Parts: sequence; C-alpha cells; structure tokens
Amino acid sequence: MAYYIRDHFPPGPVLGPRRPSINEFFLSSYTMSIYAGCEFGCPYCDGWVYHTRPLNEMVRVPLDIPHRLAEELTTVSRGDLVGITALSDPYQPIEQTYRITRQILQLFADAGQPCLVLTKGTGVLEDLPLLQRINERSLAIVMMTILTLTPPIAERLEGKSPSPASRLETLATLKRAGIPVGVALIPVLPYVNDTNNVLSGLLQACYDIGVDFVVWDFLDIPDRGHFNRISEMLARIGSYPPDYYRDLYGTQTLPNATYRTRCNTDLVYRCDLVTLAARIPHKVYAGKLLPPNEAALLLKHYAFYDMAQGRKHMAKLHRELADLVYQGRATPDQLAVSPLWPMLKGILGW
Ligand code: SF4
Repeated sequence: MAYYIRDHFPPGPVLGPRRPSINEFFLSSYTMSIYAGCEFGCPYCDGWVYHTRPLNEMVRVPLDIPHRLAEELTTVSRGDLVGITALSDPYQPIEQTYRITRQILQLFADAGQPCLVLTKGTGVLEDLPLLQRINERSLAIVMMTILTLTPPIAERLEGKSPSPASRLETLATLKRAGIPVGVALIPVLPYVNDTNNVLSGLLQACYDIGVDFVVWDFLDIPDRGHFNRISEMLARIGSYPPDYYRDLYGTQTLPNATYRTRCNTDLVYRCDLVTLAARIPHKVYAGKLLPPNEAALLLKHYAFYDMAQGRKHMAKLHRELADLVYQGRATPDQLAVSPLWPMLKGILGW
C-alpha cells in the first residue's frame, strides 16, 4: 500500500494550456491528471520517469483541485473535451477514500463539459450516474487500458490493477448503460503483446462485448533508467533476447518506423476483420464538440488510416489540414483539396 499525502495542486492551471494540436487518441483539447503518483505501479508506465519518489510508493491527494478547476472551467469552451488521461489512474485505490475524481465529474456534469476518462480501475462503474449525466448534456467516454488477456503476463505487467477480464466486464456494463467505451492497447510492447495470439484474442473479446473502438500506441522509453526497468520487466515475463529492444529502439525513445508502420498496418487489418474501429468513430463525437475540433479529428483519423494503408502524401496533407482547422486558420480552398471536403464543409457550416 502507498502512503497518501493530503496536499494542494501545484501552482498554475489544473488543465494546463489548450493543446496546440487536438489529441487524436482521446479527442482532447485539455489533458489533466488528478492524483500524483499511481498505486497500480505498472513497471512499463512512463510515470516512473517523472516522479522523484517511486511512482507507486506515495500518492498525493490534491484536495483543492475541484475548487480550482471550477474557476478554470468558466473560461473553457463546452466544445473542448477534457481528457483525464495523464500519468496517474483516476480510479486507483485512493479514490475510494477521497473521491476527488467523483468531484471532478460532478463539475463536468454541472457544466456539460465533455470528457474522456482513461483508467484500469473498475471503480469507474460507481460513477456511472455522473457519466450518464455528462453524456446526456455533452459527451462522456470511458477507455480501459488492456494489454493482454493472458493472466500470467498480465500479472507481471500490471499485477496490482484489476484483472483484464474484470475491466472488460466493466466496459460491457458501461456500454449497456449508454456510455461510449473503448480499449486502449497502450503500450504495444514488442514481443510481449504484439503477437498473433494476444492480439487476436484481445480484439475478438473487444468485439464480443461491443466496445466502440480500440486505440493503440507504442512503448515510450525516454531514458536509461526506464530502459533498465523495462529490461527487468521482460526478464520476469520470459527469456527475451537482450538485444531485441536495443535493435528496435536504437537511440530513439520509440521503436523504429519500420516496426511501427508494420504494427499499425497489421492492427488496422485485424480491426477491419472483426469490424472494430481503430480510432474513436465519428458517430461518437459528431455534433458534440466545436466544429473545428470535429473537423480536425476527422482529418487526423483519416491521416492515420492513410498512413497505415500506404498513402503517405495524403496522410501528411490531412495532418497539416487538421492542425490548421483546429487552430482556426484553414481556408475553404485549402480544405477543398481533401476528399473529405463535402463532410468538412457540412461540419464547419461553410
Ligand atoms: S495504471 Fe496507468 S498511470 Fe497507473 S501505473 Fe499503470 S499505466 Fe501508469
């Protein structure tokens, strides 16, 4: 069990500045974390890199965060989605005691502020009435991180978190209650959860319970200390060739482009086979966000498919247009070169 420290949120805004580029995984214009530290303590988490104490040893409880956020929300557009997605889990065990996440959702419900919650905590179900209220007024999405359904591997990757099976059950319940739900296969860990067995089992399970989408991203290894932590984790999981990650990563923080492209293409194909969306589908957020946000997300999601299916020039164009439209700098002439123009025109009311 971690030490809990009652504390204040650090000076400065809770939400931080509005993102210069909309987040295509979470639809977010703002990102926030609630607790500092995470008792789940997954060894692959890059939260380890940004904490002076071990991530799972001490959790700070920002008692003043609801009050400060209430003030900030008066200046935030109701068409900008807030992602509770950063560096600590909002439904880790401490939430049972302090209910800070619940207070935040209460604020969002009162304001009609769209939000997305990323968690491994099945306690999110206890806030279902609040999520439904937000969803009635704007949009509330819940994503569960699930890396594998194989119990011995899950035990070594995330043994302190609720089991993957219980997370899937939680998603199924939320979905039945009308909340859009998705699975975050984040991170893809080379050799561990990028195998045929893991991926086919996980995607089929997602389809079976009716999740709306799956997203994935790659393991980030920002420094030497994290590389060593990952190596220890791999040694606990199996006998991996010691140079495998070195070959894939070289001196970079992400696996090389060849691996990422192959993996993206493979996962898009696998999602297509089981009719799962590989990003949050447009129908989930259509009409719920600022029109430039909606248009930018469509463009970014198409750019992702363009890239995975080999249309590099179109992917580059769509990414550039996404940022221009999100920042309010796109002209009709610029957008008209995209095959999405008829849809974009309608969304933007041009
Ligand atoms: S639950 Fe999420 S935030 Fe917490 S340690 Fe695991 S990966 Fe990091």
